[in-house]
Amino acid sequence: MGLYLASLLVSQGLAVRVFEQRPSRSPFSRAIGIHPPALEALDRIGVASRLVASGVQIRHGVAIGNGKPLAGMSFDGLSGRFPFVLSLPQEQTEEILERRLRELDPDALQRGSTVTGMHDDGRTVTLDVASASASSAQTSVLAVAADGVRSSMRDFLGVPSRLKTYPDTYLMGDFKDSTEFGSDAVLFLAPKGIVESFPLPGSLRRWVARMPGLPPQAGALMLADLVCERTGIRIDPETNSMLSTFGVRSRRAVRLIHGRTALIGDAAHEVSPIGGQGMNLGWLDAAALAPIIVAAIRGQPVATELRAYESSRLRASAKAMRQAEINMALGRPVPPLLLAARNRMLSSLAGIPTVNAWVARRFTMH
Ligand SMILES: Cc1cc2nc3c(=O)[nH]c(=O)nc-3n(C[C@H](O)[C@H](O)[C@H](O)COP(=O)(O)OP(=O)(O)OC[C@H]3O[C@@H](n4cnc5c(N)ncnc54)[C@H](O)[C@@H]3O)c2cc1C
Repeated sequence: MGLYLASLLVSQGLAVRVFEQRPSRSPFSRAIGIHPPALEALDRIGVASRLVASGVQIRHGVAIGNGKPLAGMSFDGLSGRFPFVLSLPQEQTEEILERRLRELDPDALQRGSTVTGMHDDGRTVTLDVASASASSAQTSVLAVAADGVRSSMRDFLGVPSRLKTYPDTYLMGDFKDSTEFGSDAVLFLAPKGIVESFPLPGSLRRWVARMPGLPPQAGALMLADLVCERTGIRIDPETNSMLSTFGVRSRRAVRLIHGRTALIGDAAHEVSPIGGQGMNLGWLDAAALAPIIVAAIRGQPVATELRAYESSRLRASAKAMRQAEINMALGRPVPPLLLAARNRMLSSLAGIPTVNAWVARRFTMH
């Protein structure tokens, strides 16, 4: 989120520094889905076409129950320019964003620099920044905390957050794509728990299976067996290129503006990956905050705009959390007696065009 916000601000002529503790990018793919409103926001720094050229365009999704299609969803018509959800591993997305920021200002991103403390005197914010070679105090008119779920800046500021945990756990992995699904996303609503399947660039596919708990020793074979048991599809464990297990929680800071510091991204709100919206939400925070920062730096009054930013972004994150909760509930195991009724209900709801269009809009953050 920091890379995107910094690019927006630098392109408006502001001097920005991004302090990033990692000396190099995280190799973990994590998020893959970029929704149309986020692509429109990312285009403001001129990277949408690079992202689209690197990713897979998901234009259609299907839910399968008991071996039969229960519901289909089309993303056509949702957005004039980007009528799809773009699938691209987060590591590649971050590489494109980092390259763009370096083009705009080669010195903006300071890698290997950890923020270890901060002080707001009412007129400026000073960050204590430690790197391998030195420690320094960096003073600025404003600061933005974009330091992720374990945000130290949120802790330095003493901003409380509301944490919620869920019983859901998942096993996720990327494999060579041997299916016939092409660029479609597929949800298998199996009685023992959902299996999700998404296309990735490079003829790969991501598989995510709900698990009864976090297995102590998860492996590619375990995921391949689960997928086969619940969907009948055989994936080759030998082609596995990424494997991860994760539990789910959500967390929302009670305030996003604290003195001269604003919170964005996961520092402001952590959303279950099963909603597929966390990363997108953060970019939309940055897009909403950037013009307010520019106006503030130019000496314009922004108190009303900051209040509006806080309430609208808190509402947006609450909505994303509800969407993730619906997705997780849909993927939980279903007792055999209820299975047929659940599938019938989904099938009839999906048959109502207005309901189908509404779900597609919500899913893609419109
Ligand atoms: C398994 C998984 C799958 C996901 N799938 C999706 C998806 O499909 N779609 C979606 O929209 N979202 C998804 N998400 C969520 C998405 O990954 C996050 O919402 C997104 O990475 C948040 O970005 P961020 O910049 O706020 O935080 P981060 O990506 O965590 O970045 C924060 C950065 O701050 C740095 N940092 C932290 N502390 C300091 C410090 N003190 N000093 C200096 N630097 C510091 C960190 O090194 C890090 O680089 C998924 C998440 C997971 C875990």
